[in-house]
Amino acid sequence: MNRFAQILVENPVSLRRARPEILQVNVGKLCNLTCTHCHVNAGPRRKEIMTHETINRIIDWLAKTAIPTVDLTGGAPEMIPDFRYFIEQVTSLRPQRHIIDRCNLTILLELGYEDLAQFLATKKVEIIASMPCYSADNVNAQRGEGVFEGSIAALQLLNSLGYGIDPELPLHLVYNPIGAFLPPAQAELEADYKRELQKLFGIVFNKLYTLTNLPIGRFASYLQHNNKLEEYMELLIEAFNPATMDGLMCRNTISVGWRGEVYDCDFNQQLGMQWSSNGGNEPLFLWNIDPDSLEGREIMTGDHCFGCTAGAGSTCGGAIVDD
Ligand code: SF4
Ligand code: SF4
Repeated sequence: MNRFAQILVENPVSLRRARPEILQVNVGKLCNLTCTHCHVNAGPRRKEIMTHETINRIIDWLAKTAIPTVDLTGGAPEMIPDFRYFIEQVTSLRPQRHIIDRCNLTILLELGYEDLAQFLATKKVEIIASMPCYSADNVNAQRGEGVFEGSIAALQLLNSLGYGIDPELPLHLVYNPIGAFLPPAQAELEADYKRELQKLFGIVFNKLYTLTNLPIGRFASYLQHNNKLEEYMELLIEAFNPATMDGLMCRNTISVGWRGEVYDCDFNQQLGMQWSSNGGNEPLFLWNIDPDSLEGREIMTGDHCFGCTAGAGSTCGGAIVDD
């Protein structure tokens, strides 16, 4: 039994699925950046990308459900050749679905992507964008030289299209710590971001989401390299907060990989914790799943789950409880 499962027994709390409300699709590991904290190990040389055929199978499955939200992530999801096709297919479904694009901002300025921001605005796609700080040094240290300047230019472009201003074009930013520590209080940090980005660059946005770095992927390698992995695990375990359990994203999200395989969350996806049947012998894909049968299903956990339950908690939508 992993340490997280053990603490659930001790508390005692159980972690089971509720009704699925979000289909989070990780369309691949291709990215124009190589951030130090990346849990996907994404980068420009990764070859794993979702095919046209897999997108069609996902759309066919989705069309038979009432799942209201489709959340596209990667890598830089915009870099797969069929990104726009995917969005167009989702927007043609009835009932209508809400679409989220998890965007690293800099992709909006890359050669060949010049009209992407306008496309997203036309399709009323919500943008959740990574922005680990409002200061250049911190962002460039984590995400690479010049990323801060590119992110600022991209945010100004999004504002010029109405993002962060028009209620139909939400623009949220994501903060994650630059090192082995927990995020500060979300509401206070959001106020700082709003004040500084407005004052320095005239940028507005809707909400700031604070995320905890999970000790997997490139961030785990960074911790290991600096001899800090066990210390960081202790920090997360010490900060375990049972009040976060109900709000964990694995309760209402189905996570899908670039081949259509299914997981409880994007972190489990990166760890290869694919759903299976028949005693683990048959790996499951989205098209094998009946969404109406998922309530009560047990969630696969590991030590990394402490990253989601530490302090105020952490989900794709930020903190779970107030600090
Ligand atoms: S953290 Fe995001 S932007 Fe950075 S390398 Fe990973 S997928 Fe790309
Ligand atoms: S990593 Fe977080 S979201 Fe994923 S299964 Fe564990 S607690 Fe749930």
